[in-house]
Amino acid sequence: MGGLGSGRRPGERPRRKTQDALPLDVRHLARAGALSPDAEFIWEWSSGGGVRASAVVRAGVDNVAIAFQDLRQGVTREVNSQRVRIERTTGPVGGARPWFLCPDCERRVAIIYGAGLWFSCRTCKGLVYASQGQNAGMRATRRAHRLQRAMGWPAGLFAEPGEKPRGMHWRTYWRIRAELAALIGESTEHAQDRLKMANRALARLQDNIAIVGR
Ligand SMILES: [Zn+2]
Repeated sequence: MGGLGSGRRPGERPRRKTQDALPLDVRHLARAGALSPDAEFIWEWSSGGGVRASAVVRAGVDNVAIAFQDLRQGVTREVNSQRVRIERTTGPVGGARPWFLCPDCERRVAIIYGAGLWFSCRTCKGLVYASQGQNAGMRATRRAHRLQRAMGWPAGLFAEPGEKPRGMHWRTYWRIRAELAALIGESTEHAQDRLKMANRALARLQDNIAIVGR
């Protein structure tokens, strides 16, 4: 029977998820022609019908200058102005493929995220994909069910713990009950996250990254 080693420990703050950050994809910029020197584009991130943030992206020869505005809470404020380097690699069938060089770790990435004041890559932002959280939730559910089966108790997140098996110490019994409660707590917490994510995904159906040429 596993311990409580995996998953989030009490008091540890949940990590931010990728979909909460504002992505800027270098391939979208390239397709829109926004990487041609001196091109200037306004990118907007919207959600729920309102513009969340916008950025003026000005292209240089091997970089873009991003003037980023966070428009949430109805307050327009200049959050940051930042230059991000662009590097081009040649694909196997020719053709240059552009990359951002992450301003923090200088790795080549296709997407940088504007979470907080500064754009950088997913790793530097400490962002996790939603699916990683989902997996943690499913793992907790499976472990809870395994524990219930091993104890001969009814399985299910809403099932009551059963009797103490004969010959088992009371201390062990209560430890296992505590472990089960923790797993169920973790599982339902992730289920709530998934519900929120589903709602956001629905809202995003109407969302898009609008490109307004200038
Ligand atoms: Zn990075």
